Amino acid sequence: MNNYPVQKNQELTVDIIDLTHEGMGVAKIDHYPIFIENALPQEQMQIKIIKVGKKFAIGKILSIEKTSPDRVSVEDEKLVQTGIAPLSHLRYDKQLLFKKEQVENVLWKIAKMPEIKVLDTLGMEEPIHYRNKAQIPIQRIEGKLTTGFYRKNSHDLVPIDDFMIQDPAIDDALIKISEILQFYKVKAYNETNHEGFLRHIVIRRGHYSHEMMVILVTRKEKFFKGKEIAAKIHEVLPDVVSVVQNVNPEQTNVILGKEDNVLYGQSYITDQLLEKDFQISPQSFYQVNTQQAEVLYQKAFDLAELKETDTIIDAYAGIGTIGISAADKVSHVYGMELVDQAVQDANKNVALNGLENAVYLPGKAEKVLPQWQNEEIQANVIFVDPPRKGLDESFIQTACEMNPEKIVYISCNPATLARDLVVFAKEGYHTNEVQPVDMFPQTTHVECVALLSKIKE
Ligand code: SAH
Repeated sequence: MNNYPVQKNQELTVDIIDLTHEGMGVAKIDHYPIFIENALPQEQMQIKIIKVGKKFAIGKILSIEKTSPDRVSVEDEKLVQTGIAPLSHLRYDKQLLFKKEQVENVLWKIAKMPEIKVLDTLGMEEPIHYRNKAQIPIQRIEGKLTTGFYRKNSHDLVPIDDFMIQDPAIDDALIKISEILQFYKVKAYNETNHEGFLRHIVIRRGHYSHEMMVILVTRKEKFFKGKEIAAKIHEVLPDVVSVVQNVNPEQTNVILGKEDNVLYGQSYITDQLLEKDFQISPQSFYQVNTQQAEVLYQKAFDLAELKETDTIIDAYAGIGTIGISAADKVSHVYGMELVDQAVQDANKNVALNGLENAVYLPGKAEKVLPQWQNEEIQANVIFVDPPRKGLDESFIQTACEMNPEKIVYISCNPATLARDLVVFAKEGYHTNEVQPVDMFPQTTHVECVALLSKIKE
């Protein structure tokens, strides 16, 4: 026995009062929270306690006694159990509201900036089949090479064929590729003893171009019949223009290793975004939801009110999608990006679109920006699009010292966005509105764009 309000294996009836940012239902007993997967606010349910901790417990649903009006039936429970579609049991309009409220919560309560208005989340008309990229783990199950997805917070592979949120052509390709690999008796990687060969299959498909890239992530370099397998993949799937072997010898959760070997065709695919062409290499970041990326960037450009005389900075640029899409509207584009392959793509993409007013440099944003400050580059608008950890404080200071009229912040993590907006406000850049855009329907991820303007003195 312990002093907590609930005990392991105890069965009890609870009311769900909230939803965490990870999509777990919350019940409380004497202020002590119990988190329950697949539970929604307004529901009453019988649960069993499966884990008890100091600050919270985890419960499992035995039966739902009162169902939320916002619950939708999910065809395949595995989609909720895995990280693929953990919010698919919630009605889509409520998912959009949930995301808006997440942003309000961090901005108002944590950053203490209640003056910032959070707009309604821009959602998709058809919020399924949107992902242009799949990263699928491989395991050997009952002697068979199996593809699927990990159960939440674990590395137990749940076999899945219909991934709901992926481009169906990718689901179909995955089945065909698995059959080919099975035929060639390619061995699955085994995480436990770090043996075996094939770790992940990564597939990218251009939303407009339909060109496909298949990356086979292997533990070792030597790939028996690798080229023959790659040629077979192209034969069965003619849209595949690139098959790449990526070697990842480390014991790690990071999917890609450093080394890429082309096994068939070219080393990249090309797709379109806002009517510009983009070449995309294996190591380069590319937004997974092309349609919503267009909505997001359009919103960013509308907020920036770009003028022909403007010089803009595209920081954390990836393959240059933001700067290149804006290049026709402005005078000059300067961009920087950490990953070398992505910078090379960005500069090729400048040429591919016949532009002469944009340049991308390799390096850390917080290192490159001060160089541009020294060179006295006068940027009117700075676009930033950092990874989840947000901006470096020194970057924020330099950006503000450069005195742009506007800063447009695109964020995939409201918590670090809120933290950074506080620093910007201290440096004289205030935010009026934040626009959430649903880039990842059926999941708990939230993307936002915010306009920061210089306070007039
Ligand atoms: N704007 C691009 C990419 C956004 S993702 C797009 O919309 O497609 C964030 C990018 O920042 C990634 O390409 C990542 O490689 C890069 N990155 C991460 N840390 C960085 C840093 N310190 N400096 C510059 N780029 C960085």
